[in-house]
Amino acid sequence: MNTQTIKNLAAKNINSTVEIRRKIHANPELSGMEKNTNKLIQKELSRLNIEFKSGYSKYGIVARIEGKNPASRTVALRADMDALPITEATKLQYASKIKGVMHACGHDIHTACLLGAAKILQETRREWQGTVLLVFQPSEEKYGGGADVMLKEKALQAFGRKMPQRMYALHVSPELSVGTFGFKSGQYMASTDEIYITVSGKGGHAALPKETTNTVLTAAQILVGLQEITKNRTVQKEGISKIKQTAISKDTLPAIIAFGRIIGDGQTNVIPDNVEMAGTLRTFDEKFRSKAHKQIVLTANKIARRNGAVATVKIDSGYPSLYNTPSATMAARKAAENLAGKKNVVTLPLRLTAEDFAFFAQKIPSCLFRLGVSKSGVSEASKGGLHSANFIPDEKAIEYGTAIMAMLGIDG
Ligand SMILES: [Zn+2]
Ligand SMILES: [Zn+2]
Repeated sequence: MNTQTIKNLAAKNINSTVEIRRKIHANPELSGMEKNTNKLIQKELSRLNIEFKSGYSKYGIVARIEGKNPASRTVALRADMDALPITEATKLQYASKIKGVMHACGHDIHTACLLGAAKILQETRREWQGTVLLVFQPSEEKYGGGADVMLKEKALQAFGRKMPQRMYALHVSPELSVGTFGFKSGQYMASTDEIYITVSGKGGHAALPKETTNTVLTAAQILVGLQEITKNRTVQKEGISKIKQTAISKDTLPAIIAFGRIIGDGQTNVIPDNVEMAGTLRTFDEKFRSKAHKQIVLTANKIARRNGAVATVKIDSGYPSLYNTPSATMAARKAAENLAGKKNVVTLPLRLTAEDFAFFAQKIPSCLFRLGVSKSGVSEASKGGLHSANFIPDEKAIEYGTAIMAMLGIDG
């Protein structure tokens, strides 16, 4: 199967693939509630005569297409399905019909591209080797995440074989023009954990320090003290995209501990009994991540004790950091170069946002890459980024996304 054949098939089917995308876009569903999206995918897979199993992480689906010699290798392709709690402001004719819910992260495009690829793979199955698993994953946007649940439910072994040898996912990027792709080998996206700290002590009159525990000052000292943990990994003002990627060693991969919420509800002269803080830890290094968890607890306790207060620390683990396996990244990059031309394939910087595809990538050599969706020539300001009510990806990208997923199924 050569690239041109797949490119032609993606182009030939583009109207029906765009129609699928628009249907999903107009009827978005929040994480864990993707009932109608699930139905639409089931209907399309049945129409294409592709076998599937539904019900993983509630509305997830795993489908299988077998080529020649199906036991020789298995590649899994993943698309997420969920939308966001945002009211769409685009005024497109196929804009969301559901108030307060919008596909503002492009998961409608991801699902459409995977269904488009499914059609190509099914039609050409006598011309390629191995097995392709199509993984439609719910609930990416909400903590907990569908990926982790699907893995625990053994969704990738749905058809009784061992785990796939490779796994791929694409994600739309409004930072890249349509017709371009972006890749980052190795560490790519951050882990994300939530930190909750309550500082407790005996409040009272601010002017009688002998009789009170200064919970507010203790909280402030803890905030400053925690910065020591990421001291050598500070993200500079200019952002990580400006750091020379080659200059980042594993020990200096950036990390952030930041607090966005502090509640100490006293008065000018009243120290409260409790101060509550909530923040986030982000890092690209799993070893550092678990070390940081311990250090956060130790530091908070030490500072609290010194001030006669008590710190209660709770850390909720979110998504792990995403590591793109170099060999899988190389294979996907090559496919993109064949499809879009070498000059339209770029190397990406690290990203401090998170992705639950990271759970799959912990188990299977994987690559998540970016599909350019911004119309060239349109000004940055008018485009709307991911998670924006004005996000309008260029649908021409669906042709590229469909083709590359089919190529990776066959040859990735
Ligand atoms: Zn998102
Ligand atoms: Zn997303």
